[in-house]
Amino acid sequence: MLQVPSRPHLRVHSNSKRAMTDIAKRIVLMMSEYGIAGLPRNYELFYEAVTGTNAELTRELSLLGKKITQDELDKLGRRFFAHHHGQGVVEDVQNRMTSQIQEILSLLRDEQVSLTRYGKVLDRTSEQISMPAVGENQLLLKIVKLLSDATNTTMDHGHKVVTSMHEKSAEIQEINAELKRYKELANTDPLTKLSNRRAFDSHIAEIHDDNKAAMYFALIFADIDHFKRVNDTYGHTVGDKILSYVATTMRSAVGTDAFVARIGGEEFAIAQKEATEEEACELAERIRSAIEDKKFINNKTGIDYGPITLSLGICMGSDASNSADLYRKVDQALYASKNSGRNRVTTYSEIPAGSGKAFKDWLLYRKQ
Ligand code: GH3
Ligand code: MG
Ligand code: MG
Repeated sequence: MLQVPSRPHLRVHSNSKRAMTDIAKRIVLMMSEYGIAGLPRNYELFYEAVTGTNAELTRELSLLGKKITQDELDKLGRRFFAHHHGQGVVEDVQNRMTSQIQEILSLLRDEQVSLTRYGKVLDRTSEQISMPAVGENQLLLKIVKLLSDATNTTMDHGHKVVTSMHEKSAEIQEINAELKRYKELANTDPLTKLSNRRAFDSHIAEIHDDNKAAMYFALIFADIDHFKRVNDTYGHTVGDKILSYVATTMRSAVGTDAFVARIGGEEFAIAQKEATEEEACELAERIRSAIEDKKFINNKTGIDYGPITLSLGICMGSDASNSADLYRKVDQALYASKNSGRNRVTTYSEIPAGSGKAFKDWLLYRKQ
């Protein structure tokens, strides 16, 4: 079995060049020991596993055993780093877009050539009209024929351009739909189908771009209580099922009132725009009681996995000076809920002044 330390001694605490070189050596050695191709995407997986920044990935990787196939690695990659492993898709879509646009440009150029030709015919015609009339009927017939030929050619060409444009626009629509599907995939947590951390961060960044919105929104963090026990008692597969059930329950409790995401293993975040602290408390309480009231029973065996409960913390945008400060403060509020018995909601504003300092080592966003 692959020995990837879950609490590695090689954690990157500083920017020490030496530590980085050691890690790099260790990763390369480990990869070659297991006969893993030296691809950047494999290196990325092993980097995360060796530095222990992603405990879940470390665990999954160590479960793959001695003979690891590229396919298995790529599957893990797609689960944990959809953004990187999807680059091929993006490149492919970009290439297709570029070639479609080039084809359209060349169609338009042809169209221009054809129109220029038509213009020249008209010029010649008008020259002939201004010539002294020798057998006027014959000249007129010649002009009419010239004009009608030119018109037919231009119409023919125009028709072809329209048909081609039609086909191209259908293709571009298809490419756009593919891009949209890919974007959704990159922003979705595969287990719970909620938005992932990446989507949540960009949502928060958007809120912070607008000073007014940043003042009037509430950030809520929710963390499942004693979830390790659930895994230890019933196994990881059951743990995963419970996680996705919690996510569904949470999403329906929130409805369209806010943005919900799974931002970590058993950690969720909710951003509620244009909310007062009272409204945020109501929403958090609605989520808390929805999970508390839910029965987590296995239909086949009748085993009751519950009670499953959540601890929640709230911080208002107006209580923080920037997004890092907001994350830190909402984390403190969540910790206060954990510390005072779990299965409850705490707002940052109700934590006694200064007590936040005691929690500074317990940050949800700390690197493990
Ligand atoms: P607390 O009430 O203090 O939050 O206790 P806890 O046990 O929930 O917290 P702790 O941080 O000690 O453990 C979190 C656990 O969540 C550990 C890990 O096994 C589990 N976990 C994290 N991600 C996943 C996942 O994707 N699937 C499963 N099944 N378990 C996960
Ligand atoms: Mg946690
Ligand atoms: Mg927990």
